[in-house]
Amino acid sequence: MFLSKLFLPLTKDLPADAKIKSHQLMLRTGMIKQSAAGIYSWLPLGFKVMKKIEQIVREEQNKIGAQEMLMPTIQSADIWKESGRYNDYGEEMLRIKDRQGREMLYGPTNEELITEIFRSSIKSYKSLPQMLYHIQWKFRDEIRPRFGIMRCREFYMKDAYSFDLDEDQAKQSYNKMFYSYLHTFKRLELEAIPMAADTGPIGGDLSHEFIILAETGESNVYADKNIFKIKLEDYKFDNNSLEKMRNDFSSYYAVTDEKFKKEEFEKKIKKENQILTKGIEVGHIFYFGDKYSKPLNCLVDHPDGKKVAVKMGSYGIGVSRLVGAIIEAKFTNEIMKWPKSVSPFEVVLIPSINKNNTENLEKALKIYRQLKSENIDVLLDDVDENISAKFKKHDLLGIPYQIIIGSKSEGDNLEFKEIGHNAIMQTLNKIINTIKN
Ligand code: ATP
Ligand code: MG
Repeated sequence: MFLSKLFLPLTKDLPADAKIKSHQLMLRTGMIKQSAAGIYSWLPLGFKVMKKIEQIVREEQNKIGAQEMLMPTIQSADIWKESGRYNDYGEEMLRIKDRQGREMLYGPTNEELITEIFRSSIKSYKSLPQMLYHIQWKFRDEIRPRFGIMRCREFYMKDAYSFDLDEDQAKQSYNKMFYSYLHTFKRLELEAIPMAADTGPIGGDLSHEFIILAETGESNVYADKNIFKIKLEDYKFDNNSLEKMRNDFSSYYAVTDEKFKKEEFEKKIKKENQILTKGIEVGHIFYFGDKYSKPLNCLVDHPDGKKVAVKMGSYGIGVSRLVGAIIEAKFTNEIMKWPKSVSPFEVVLIPSINKNNTENLEKALKIYRQLKSENIDVLLDDVDENISAKFKKHDLLGIPYQIIIGSKSEGDNLEFKEIGHNAIMQTLNKIINTIKN
């Protein structure tokens, strides 16, 4: 792609409510555009990043045996009345009437709908376990939408649902998701902490919020630093190893607000190991037994002849929120660096362009074609603009590899830069002799 052709409405004018870095940057680099309070359009650059995140989430779901499907955004109110949540959900639910006067709603989540699908299709323990997921827009009429796409009203979520015969098996499904989440966030170069969360009236310890540390986050984090020592590579994908994995993580203190007890925290964790900060919730997993299957009458035949309500769990990842969360985690000193796995482009070519001399641009075009033929997604900055302005722009765009064709690249030399982890521009290498004619 040529930068001159890319739909990239860079802007300097920020609305007053753009208070956090990710929101400002996404607007400045033309990734999103607000269309109403808490509702955004995803422009090409932002959409590309979100789609890459979505694909990683999908691959890691498929790896653990979850099956992708797609449920609609609009649901009938009837099933929500059956579960009892039509009233309980309150004002966050966007309620709609169709032309026949039927009550509908824009789905804020899908427990009811998936349970309805399941109960009408699966009748026997022989078809269990099952894990289904979709990646779909949700709507929640948040009272205070803020921070751009981090807390908006319409957002993109991966939500999965597991169905098992009993609690033990349901725990195994839960553990698989736990594993999948940690691998997903690792591929996104995020260090997510699974924090024990409240399970409400069901009890037990089977709910975790996955949080990445960020000062601008809305969740309080109380954790033991040592939790970062756990290595994912030490666990295999089998039931025993997965159970051990969850137990090992749970052996370190990491809890959400509702579970936090000050004295316990201070007693258990040495001062220097205490993490007491803010974080962004990027995922949430939950075991809730027969909370929905019972009222919705989602029963299967048990091997011993009885009919039992299936045991369910649900598992969300905020796919669109992750775009902002990654920016919050990676942006420092006015320099952005996308993880390679989700960067909108893999490489950017930055020729210094001079009206009287097209040599640099020609060189860049040559490399551009070579990279394209290798299937590398490359952006060529063919805009006629001074080089320091270009560097500034690319510091914001955050493409992790830059090839600069300018004063330092006389003859056959090129300047190759990788944007460093500390956001210090690090000249990694000078590729010499790459483009001999
Ligand atoms: P929160 O406490 O942030 O409101 P939640 O507990 O309501 O989150 P879930 O229902 O568990 O969230 O949804 C799963 C995931 O969807 C969350 O972990 C989060 O990443 C994302 N998410 C939830 N609400 C929003 C929102 N308003 N805007 C963007 N993403 C959201
Ligand atoms: Mg919420």
